[in-house]
Amino acid sequence: MSKGKEVILETHDIHKYFGGIKALKGVSIHLYKGEILGLIGPNGAGKTTLFNIITGYYKPTKGKVIFEGKDITGLPLRKITRMGIARTFQLVQIFPSLTVLENVLVGALNGREEVLTYEEAVEESYKALEFIGLIDQADKFASQLVLTDRKKVELARALATNPKILLLDELIAGLNPKETDEMLEVIRKINSRGISIIMVEHVMRAIMNISERLVVLDYGEKIAEGTPEEVANNPRVIEAYLGRFAGGVKKNA
Ligand code: ATP
Repeated sequence: MSKGKEVILETHDIHKYFGGIKALKGVSIHLYKGEILGLIGPNGAGKTTLFNIITGYYKPTKGKVIFEGKDITGLPLRKITRMGIARTFQLVQIFPSLTVLENVLVGALNGREEVLTYEEAVEESYKALEFIGLIDQADKFASQLVLTDRKKVELARALATNPKILLLDELIAGLNPKETDEMLEVIRKINSRGISIIMVEHVMRAIMNISERLVVLDYGEKIAEGTPEEVANNPRVIEAYLGRFAGGVKKNA
């Protein structure tokens, strides 16, 4: 680990078995405070499973998750959210029959360490919507929004929990190039507030562009980590994953 950089989150030797399926086999990663870390790898490599373990949705079969020096392995999801780890989901999980504001309120009322009054929670939710650029949609039903805005609702809900770490699971997937660039700007803006980020993404142009470091999983194992350039030129990564993106992995491409 680099000298002088503070580690905010670590996983140590995480194993996760689902019956006979070994989804994770000894994965150790670390996230520096203030960093954007990309987590990539083929379908089924174990990326979402690792998010589910960090956030307390699953208990690992073996291994530990350390957040700000504390062992949080297997703590209840709600407790981990309140400690400061928020996420978005691969398939957007918002409440379609609630308004945008109400969706974000769920985060402000349930996901924060401190208990807010309803009025304070509304204020924090409006702040999150303003920050994400969704304030003009606040009173619409979530079901009325296009995909990119539904993804932003999830982001605003996560922000309303006042997180220290955000885990973003395929936030870019399904967006067109213009929406992708806008979303990348929103992610950078969130990061510039000091929020550390781990991003799972298959859109190579996006993940190579925004990540400071990358970790690559394949069949439940970490096969590489390093800068985007190092990872893009790693023969094992090219063979396992990047080969199918031939020509699309240049930084700023
Ligand atoms: P993708 O890029 O397709 O989202 P991923 O890298 O996120 O893939 P995971 O969803 O973590 O991969 O899945 C890792 C492996 O664990 C896969 O073989 C998957 O089928 C299996 N798996 C994940 N969750 C469960 C579960 N709840 N029960 C059984 N098997 C599971």
